[in-house]
Amino acid sequence: MDGQPLYSTHWPVIGHKWAVEHLARSLNHGRVRHAYLITGPSGIGKTTLARAFAQAVNCLSEEARPCGECRACTLIAHDGYADVNVIQADGNTLKIEQIRDMQHMLALRPVEARYRVVILRHFQDATPQAMDALLKTLEEPPSYVILLLTADTADTLLPTIKSRCQPINLRVLPTTLIRRALEERWQVEPERAALLAQLSGGRIGWAVRAAEDETLLAQRSEWLDLLEKAIGQSRVGRFMLVEPLSRDKASLAAAMELWQSYWRDVLLVSHSTTTPIANRDRRHALEQIAAAVKVEDVQRVLNAIRRTAKYVDQNVNARLALEVLMLDLPQLQLIQAPPGVRE
Ligand SMILES: [Zn+2]
Repeated sequence: MDGQPLYSTHWPVIGHKWAVEHLARSLNHGRVRHAYLITGPSGIGKTTLARAFAQAVNCLSEEARPCGECRACTLIAHDGYADVNVIQADGNTLKIEQIRDMQHMLALRPVEARYRVVILRHFQDATPQAMDALLKTLEEPPSYVILLLTADTADTLLPTIKSRCQPINLRVLPTTLIRRALEERWQVEPERAALLAQLSGGRIGWAVRAAEDETLLAQRSEWLDLLEKAIGQSRVGRFMLVEPLSRDKASLAAAMELWQSYWRDVLLVSHSTTTPIANRDRRHALEQIAAAVKVEDVQRVLNAIRRTAKYVDQNVNARLALEVLMLDLPQLQLIQAPPGVRE
């Protein structure tokens, strides 16, 4: 040993330094676990971290793993490596059949890798039967297997699953880090990078997708317009407004996240803190709401949105959940921002 540990901390991951250091350290000490549970809001890099970990454990370099260049690293980066598999919801749920197929595959030793790695994405989408089935693998994992579960939150997972996984809780990233990454790695022009970083709410995945896909920003505007319109409407008007949204579970989850960031901004504005708001293009409306609505009522809306997100996650009737949320919104006629105020 020349003092340089075999597993480096130069992973293809933006931020989450402590998590990378923690995982690299356990690899260097030969203390790799058979199951990890990576949690955090969608788009902050959970799967990216999982993939980088899969590269590290299977990298062929004898100097610094993951090298990013060997056969294993390259193929894993594109989900093309036979011994590293990604499993996620088939439709709205991750089903027991998918776990059974995985178990058949895991019965076989890896083809060429040191470890067979399975990344189970959005494990909160797993049915109770699928979670139950996974327990069997978690209880007696083959020595060559590493399971990497990702979930927006661990709240809805079985306690027996949580207790068998090493938890890695990822936090949202600082805006400055996202802005720099957009500029340097994705060559986004500075002004746009600053706006996207701000709007991302610390979620690098969202920022990168929005940089590459113009429709994401349009989608965001649409959902915020919908929310602001609903605030000005009666109960029936609100139900009609949100009806189309209730039909698409994936959109609904993302919309709930966005709405949470919006109401957190209302709190920030009413407390006049120096913390920058996420939806700065909506400041005009946010200020009106902050002036008219009591802090307790804003908290109630935030709780209602969180509850709705959880219901959607648990596959409770999404339309009903959204309608209940609509009842919790304050009613207020928002005055349009004068032209030029919107960024
Ligand atoms: Zn490599």
